Amino acid sequence: MADLRNTKLFKERLAQLEEEAHRLGVVFAPAEAADLLAERVTATANQLGVTERTALQTYTTPHNISLLANVLGEHAATYREVMAEADPVTITVPDAGRVIAALGMVCKLATEQINKDSADAAGVLTDAADAIVGIGAQVRTNQDYEPVTIAGRTLVYSRTVLTHAVDRLTTGIWACPCRQPHPSGADSCTLVQGLTADLNIVAGWLTTSNERPGDQR
Ligand SMILES: [Zn+2]
Repeated sequence: MADLRNTKLFKERLAQLEEEAHRLGVVFAPAEAADLLAERVTATANQLGVTERTALQTYTTPHNISLLANVLGEHAATYREVMAEADPVTITVPDAGRVIAALGMVCKLATEQINKDSADAAGVLTDAADAIVGIGAQVRTNQDYEPVTIAGRTLVYSRTVLTHAVDRLTTGIWACPCRQPHPSGADSCTLVQGLTADLNIVAGWLTTSNERPGDQR
């Protein structure tokens, strides 16, 4: 596949995908579009039992690329809707502090992954930065420790970051600082429990046994 990525045809198809998806409001992370197209070519080759070169030359037509761009565009629209429609949540200042601390902890864990999967780590760090800036801005303008209202957009970023971290830690893709195995379904370590509880504060819930209300820690 490395050779195929360097071919003129792959680059042409990639340029078309990037241009059409961009027009539909899709924002790619670095190399994301190329990875996506490469995955598509591999999947097509496996499905049809042909070589990747044939899959690219014969079956990855400009029409197929347009279809792929449209699917991505629909996802982007849904994502923007989720962002715009997420309801704000009002939380106490100590809870805001807890969420900021959790996001910081995840940043530290993501930083350790930079050499392993830089695109993934960069995505987590960017979302975490947006979440921290959003919560910080609310706390900063807060008078007399009144509960603070966290905007929907900030909540979406916070949930994305915390859910991602819990997922990576429990599946073992990220090494957990507790150095214990995290067998699925078993009681998780205090870090994972803590992050799950913090996820609850920002009104995000996991559908796993880790679920635990934020105020019962
Ligand atoms: Zn752990």
